[in-house]
Amino acid sequence: MDAGKKAEEEEGGYKMDTKLLSKDKEGRKISFSLTGATDWFANTMRRFMIEEVPTLAVEDVEFRDNSSALYDEIIAHRLGLIPIKTDLRSYNLPEECSCKGKGCAKCQLKMILKAKSQGIVFAEEIKSKDPKCKPVYPKMPITKLLKGQSLQAEMTAVMGKGKVHTKWSPCFVWYRGWPQLNPGKNADLKACVDQCPVLELSGTNLKITDISKWNESYEEICEKNGVTVTNSKIDFIFNIESWGQLDAKDIVKEAVKIFQNKLDDFTKQLK
Ligand SMILES: [Zn+2]
Repeated sequence: MDAGKKAEEEEGGYKMDTKLLSKDKEGRKISFSLTGATDWFANTMRRFMIEEVPTLAVEDVEFRDNSSALYDEIIAHRLGLIPIKTDLRSYNLPEECSCKGKGCAKCQLKMILKAKSQGIVFAEEIKSKDPKCKPVYPKMPITKLLKGQSLQAEMTAVMGKGKVHTKWSPCFVWYRGWPQLNPGKNADLKACVDQCPVLELSGTNLKITDISKWNESYEEICEKNGVTVTNSKIDFIFNIESWGQLDAKDIVKEAVKIFQNKLDDFTKQLK
């Protein structure tokens, strides 16, 4: 490859493309390839997904009664961390809402918890005013009640961003440069294929059969057998694990929209 072409490649001169590599049944975990990009672009996308895509989370709790062993503050903290199914079309961020942040049905969701039976109080006991938006995992424990104890609280969930508090973050994202396998003179390709179930021999080269299952341990095996592994700076594999508030695919779509809006804002400011 000549220097000019390499420079162009490093500048992201190629057309950007994405392809879905794997997806779980619930749509909470996906991995996709991002090719012809740059490392700063990949990292910007990662940060937007984690910090900018908004979700619903409990922000205020009013206790009517709490005779459990846990203090109000601890229970409020636990309630804040319960992922709530979020409908991005029905709810606005308070600062972008027509109520100007005062609080209304378009930026807030009221929920009630009333528990008085002995045993563990689970997230499924929280009653939401919006049936679409309720705790994602019914069996998340909140506290334990002994005989005669009770817990009663009214909660307000609001839309927010992960950069303000991690309870609003919708997912965990990581990416890596696409692995490039370069066999050295004395490389033992057969040993590589034998020890890595996702590798096969294609002529005198190694080929990865399922990139979504590729990981560092395979890289170590290859290195031990004389194959140098480098990671591309323009092609990436993205993995997204949603905490449940939003589908992984919607998180990516929303992050792209946020990126676009920020660029539009920037262009306006320049003018
Ligand atoms: Zn509002």
